[in-house]
Amino acid sequence: MRKTELRIRLFGDPVLRKKAKPVKKITDYHRDVLSAMSRLMYTDSGIGLAAPQVGVNETMIVVDIGSGLYKLINPKVVKKEGSQVTEEGCLSVPGICIKVRRARKVLVTALDESGEPVSIEAADLFACVLQHEIDHLKGKLIVDYASFFEKVRIKRKLKALRERYSHEKLSQSETKSCKLQL
Ligand code: ZN
Repeated sequence: MRKTELRIRLFGDPVLRKKAKPVKKITDYHRDVLSAMSRLMYTDSGIGLAAPQVGVNETMIVVDIGSGLYKLINPKVVKKEGSQVTEEGCLSVPGICIKVRRARKVLVTALDESGEPVSIEAADLFACVLQHEIDHLKGKLIVDYASFFEKVRIKRKLKALRERYSHEKLSQSETKSCKLQL
């Protein structure tokens, strides 16, 4: 796949609902995809992005909450502690913010892009972003956490997104309505 084909996929695109496959052997292709993902994340002022969000059905994520870029392959949450509620947005579900309850602290294991094992202890926002991105690898989206009333509130927006997911780039006002874009 050429890098130029990678673009942010929007709600309604079936790739966002697929369970991503673990990477068995890390190649230049994976490193290229991770670089392209990082570029797209920064361009859209995101702080995290998962491979399915660019149409790649493999377990890879990138995260940068302002303290450095992490490119993680086959990430897994192996320990959780506490809880926090954060209002989250998603680059694939523009214009929608959902309050999501997640663990406050997590221990994540993964491989870096050269195949070395890494283990990351994360708390607060960093923990939130890691859990959000790992959700993407399972085909799970923030809208799945919506309460009954939130579902009613976002129903029309989701329908509109679903109808146009494969088409054009959305306007700035539509994408920037939530502070955290993951
Ligand atoms: Zn997201």
